[in-house]
Amino acid sequence: MPLEAGLLEILACPACHAPLKEAEAELICTSKDCGLAYPVRDGIPVLLVDEARRPA
Ligand SMILES: [Zn+2]
Repeated sequence: MPLEAGLLEILACPACHAPLKEAEAELICTSKDCGLAYPVRDGIPVLLVDEARRPA
């Protein structure tokens, strides 16, 4: 389910405040040093560091 247009523009990574980009079912931090992937559940981004997937 695509996120509402404009929503991505106001979202930022809670860990480093970099912009996020939309992926399959995740929002991924665009910071190279961070790169956390946040899950999107039922169309709602879960922007919690504790819930984020860390890059390999
Ligand atoms: Zn980040």
